[in-house]
Amino acid sequence: MIDTHMHADARSGEDFREMYLAGIETAVTCSYYPYKIPHEMILLNHLNRILEFDTKRAKEHGLDLKVALGIHPTNSNVNPETIFENLYKWIESDQIVAIGEIGLEDLTDNEITIFKQQLDIASETNSKVIIHTPRKNKREVLNVILDILPQHIDENQAVIDHINPQVVGDAINTECMLGLTVQPQKMDKFEAISILDEYGFEKFLLNSDISNKASDPLSVPKTVDELIRQGYKKSEIEKVASENAQKFFKI
Ligand SMILES: [Zn+2]
Repeated sequence: MIDTHMHADARSGEDFREMYLAGIETAVTCSYYPYKIPHEMILLNHLNRILEFDTKRAKEHGLDLKVALGIHPTNSNVNPETIFENLYKWIESDQIVAIGEIGLEDLTDNEITIFKQQLDIASETNSKVIIHTPRKNKREVLNVILDILPQHIDENQAVIDHINPQVVGDAINTECMLGLTVQPQKMDKFEAISILDEYGFEKFLLNSDISNKASDPLSVPKTVDELIRQGYKKSEIEKVASENAQKFFKI
């Protein structure tokens, strides 16, 4: 199985071990710094830590960690130039599988500018992007994202994440992949399964988004287990459990 969106820097080695033992061989860890960033070097240090330290820590517990780096919308108060220079370097050397997570949270001018710039970098370098949608005002923000996206990048280079039953209809007719985050306080496995049941298994990636907020490191295997229990076809389950992510991220 592949957990397509998590925050390894906020989690313990014990979590990685549990995930591995439950059948998650690979996970994609994303950028997000949960505290004030007085200088862009703090953010750069966060990104380098994920790349050089958390990947090693995960490996020691069996988990193969792939990395997505970029400027999370809530970290948009930095001068982005140093980060962008490094993004080009990491993409060039194949150290990251996507730019992410990027996106919009409060729709500030800064957020929108940095979001567009990162989409342009992804388009120029033919990279994938992982796009965050917020907990509050999800539909409004999602629709701003959907307006901006095609002006900057091919939709099939993007996964729009944290899609739930309330907004899935807004994004289903795009070329984007859609991320289903099964997480306490966000969406439970039954809601995720209701989406798959209605729209099929082709367009979706599953993830836990484990972070420093309420999280369940095993939400992907628990959802897969529930799909098996409810009698969905093995070939369909494999698409959301791993195949779609393998194809999209080329991992
Ligand atoms: Zn996240």
